[in-house]
Amino acid sequence: MLSEVEKSLKQYWGYDEFLPLQRRAIECSVSGRDSIVVLPTGGGKSLCYQAPAVSMDGMAVVVSPLISLMKDQVDSLLQCGVSAARLDSSMTVYERDQVIKAVSLEQVKLLYMSPEKLVSEGFIEFLQGFKLSLIAIDEAHCVSMWGHDFRPEYRQLSCLKEMFPGVAVHAYTATATENVRGDIAVQLKLSDHEMLIGSFDRANLIYKVEQVQDKVSRVCRIVEENKGNSGIVYCIRRKDVDEMFKQLSARGVKALPYHAGMDAEARRINQEAFDKERVDVMVATIAFGMGIDKSNVRYVVHAGMPKSLENYQQEAGRAGRDGLEAQCYLLYSNGDYQVWKFILSQTDDLAAKKVSLDKLSEVYNFCHSMNCRHAALVEYFGQNLDKDNCSACDVCLGDVEEMEEALIVAQKILSCVVRLNQSFGADQVSMVLTGSKDKRVTERRHDQLSTYGLLKDFSKGVVRDWTEQLVSQGYLAKQGEFNVVCLTKTGGEVLKGLKVPRLLKPLTDKPKPARKSKVVEQAWEGVDHGLFERLRQVRKEQADLKGVPAFVVFGDAALRDMARIRPTTKRMFNMVKGVGQAKSTKYGKKFMREIAIYCKEHSVGTDVV
Ligand code: ADP
Repeated sequence: MLSEVEKSLKQYWGYDEFLPLQRRAIECSVSGRDSIVVLPTGGGKSLCYQAPAVSMDGMAVVVSPLISLMKDQVDSLLQCGVSAARLDSSMTVYERDQVIKAVSLEQVKLLYMSPEKLVSEGFIEFLQGFKLSLIAIDEAHCVSMWGHDFRPEYRQLSCLKEMFPGVAVHAYTATATENVRGDIAVQLKLSDHEMLIGSFDRANLIYKVEQVQDKVSRVCRIVEENKGNSGIVYCIRRKDVDEMFKQLSARGVKALPYHAGMDAEARRINQEAFDKERVDVMVATIAFGMGIDKSNVRYVVHAGMPKSLENYQQEAGRAGRDGLEAQCYLLYSNGDYQVWKFILSQTDDLAAKKVSLDKLSEVYNFCHSMNCRHAALVEYFGQNLDKDNCSACDVCLGDVEEMEEALIVAQKILSCVVRLNQSFGADQVSMVLTGSKDKRVTERRHDQLSTYGLLKDFSKGVVRDWTEQLVSQGYLAKQGEFNVVCLTKTGGEVLKGLKVPRLLKPLTDKPKPARKSKVVEQAWEGVDHGLFERLRQVRKEQADLKGVPAFVVFGDAALRDMARIRPTTKRMFNMVKGVGQAKSTKYGKKFMREIAIYCKEHSVGTDVV
């Protein structure tokens, strides 16, 4: 059976091999064993149930929380030549009847629906009349109250094991926390299930963390550098979205806004414009979330700190779902912490408030840290990175400029903390060191301390940042409600000169030359850029004709492979990764014609193996 699935992988999707963990997940599907599959976004979860569903007897039922997700998935499957259908509230009665008829005639291999639909009256009984190959629960973390997207309707899915005895239930999620995983098994009443957890590292994402004063200018520069590509700019508040959208539009950027203050229809229209590539940039709050299935988002900018590292992984993770290189910029300013603190403090639930503020501090430390971003993120989720240099983050790429005299500066800061009897916050420490005349310094006679003014050549903000960097490296610790700064044991070693901390050079407004990551070079190896752009145009025309998003016709990965192989025969065209039989028949001629013309015009070789 597994070899059948492998064949269908090539026939329908045009892929030669499974991605990591897909094989094991598919083994569960074909052997009828319940499973929970945790893979990051872009890890290839959909194929874990779609490929077996095509080869197995009967119909697969897929539960999905959002109409937009179902629509994209069904459109993609139809493009691949797989008979898939959906049932949702946006369809007309006629459309729904057609689907029911096709199901009754056993013509459907995958049927998508919402949890409410599945458990609605009479529908389970209807489905019981058919042979089901498997039941797949997409975005399964929605079943858990511990998750960030809890949906009460998902709780009703607990009846599935009882209602469909002998049919395996498979749950898929990108959410990494252990309690959510455990809860999924309990809530869905899975029996003897296999738990498959992939690596949380997204090796194709290039993380860059920058402290930025003028975020609008920086975002504009990033958009300019990524011109023509799809990107998301996340802002903390709705008003930040409106302002950023205004500024980008004024500079001629094709952008649209998205936040929960807009009505549902306006949001739908904007999302569609983004999906169909009528605009390049979506400026959004985190309300722009789970429904994004667009595989070729090439960059995500956080124009403000995210509120937790889980959020960061999710939001930045919307870039590069197609496995190709994508840029993730985290632009922060120290004010972001205060904005979030204010928002997160608007609750009476003290325990929840503490948890959210702790998570916020973790992000703050992440921003100030000088460790590999990939390593920091996977370690946060309890895994280890299996390489010393990821070659895909600001730290490993050497974008981060360090102070040569870090030891002396750090010793001055640590001594000041000691002189202040380890009883004050980072703000007071920076004021004393920079020789501030502020009342909070003079009234406490801190201007009499020997460390007063020791770093007077720098601004308070710079010294404050260095203090945070020392905290994130563990030389200082913050304690109590007022975040009093104290020396740690390793901090003591710095004072003795036994350890040397790392400190960043103060910010300048001069843009730094961007360094190329190996990840980018590999993804473009052998690809003719001009041809790739030409093929994007062809894809857009075809997608518009069919009324589907561009990425549903071919992913960026398939287009790059085309621009690398430059096929002019059907046999060569079928070798392109992501070209299955149906797409080859549907689009082969059009794309090959364009390739032949381009290659002739530019004297570029064709049919490269
Ligand atoms: P997820 O649901 O985990 O976010 P998807 O199912 O959307 O991931 O898959 C991400 C991308 O990887 C898609 O573009 C998909 O076509 C591609 N993909 C999936 N499986 C394979 C495979 N075996 N070989 C190559 N590409 C694959």
